[in-house]
Amino acid sequence: MRAVHADAIITGDAGVVRDGAVVVDASGTVVEVGPAADVLPRHAGLPVERARGVLLPGLVNAHTHLELSALRGQVTGGAGFVPWVEHMIGVRAEAFPEDDAEAIEQAVAELDAFGTVAVGEVTNSLSAVQPLARRGIVGRIFHEVFGIERASLEQRVADLPKIMAERVGAWPTLELDYAPSPHTLYTTHPAVVRRLAREARERGSRVSLHLAEHAAERRFLEHGDGPIPGWYELRLKLRRDLLEWPGKSPIALADDLGALGPHVICVHLTDARPEELELVARRGAPVVFCPRSNLFIETRLPPLLNARAAGILPALGTDSLASNASLDVLAEARALADRFPTVPASELVRMATWEGARALGRDDLGRIVRAARPGLFSIEGDAGAIADDPCAFVLKNLRAPRRWIVRRPPRLTNLAGAAS
Ligand SMILES: [Zn+2]
Repeated sequence: MRAVHADAIITGDAGVVRDGAVVVDASGTVVEVGPAADVLPRHAGLPVERARGVLLPGLVNAHTHLELSALRGQVTGGAGFVPWVEHMIGVRAEAFPEDDAEAIEQAVAELDAFGTVAVGEVTNSLSAVQPLARRGIVGRIFHEVFGIERASLEQRVADLPKIMAERVGAWPTLELDYAPSPHTLYTTHPAVVRRLAREARERGSRVSLHLAEHAAERRFLEHGDGPIPGWYELRLKLRRDLLEWPGKSPIALADDLGALGPHVICVHLTDARPEELELVARRGAPVVFCPRSNLFIETRLPPLLNARAAGILPALGTDSLASNASLDVLAEARALADRFPTVPASELVRMATWEGARALGRDDLGRIVRAARPGLFSIEGDAGAIADDPCAFVLKNLRAPRRWIVRRPPRLTNLAGAAS
């Protein structure tokens, strides 16, 4: 066991302890946390590490696409989702980012350097699974399923175990949960959305769904027109006059399909209306906002104030480097702090830590509390600014040095067949 004594501890879920101390055991599990004057005398004799600055639980980046990391700076934004995705597909066809092991390795190393312990990784290629596992970053792997032709999509789902074995080999760790996930409600056949959501619920797992991300999604699902049908025609060679659409809003459709509940992580909701957010809240669905990606693609912000009014405290994600400048989830909190000055900094930091862990269904992460194993890192800086408001300090000083104090070592399986 050892103790860490810091100028301030941001617990993730329960505010701040000024001049605090944490005691952890050899595995990094928290034994006790509280004011240093109480905790340290109770553990006299333990080695004490003095961490200058703020101590935080490892960050949770609840929405990433690490396989696109080689597209950093390559895709133009600002004109809306369909132009962005068109450009992204074009660049992707030339660059094969999912085969760029170096860019993915580099992105995972950056996540680690930012203080990240967990991700909600959405992927087609599973390219980031081994790099994440090797570095001890945990969470969920959402293997994306898309296609609107039902029979071939059902076949694809049936083939997933084989694809997984080919691309990943033996699954490297139990700390990365695997779940096939629908891409969106307009790119994945509704019967398959229903099936994947149901299977996740039955297994006690979670799927991820890009939901109500932009106006074109609503326009197509409600009325069958807007930019999406043209995109189908171009990309999927589908005849416009044969298209069917549900005549429902994205949130209502998700609800109809059994895809609105604690087992479905709703990503974006940028285009969701207040009454729709209320339904999301009533169903208990976890929510992830990706503000910098929304700003880049759509020049639009997620509806943070309406979500809060509905009782939703979202998690945060960076989305991919094809629509963002970095994988730092605290920079997402900062982007919201700059644009929603009435929202307390403590709440925004909580979204990057504990709310992320909650969204991923991991109550052992994202908070410094007895029995959790969150990983601990420090952010160093001016003592006066830290004393003033530790959470505001964190958001204002994204470039301040971050240092791991207690790492979360990888727990790999399948090393010579034995769990370690
Ligand atoms: Zn995404």
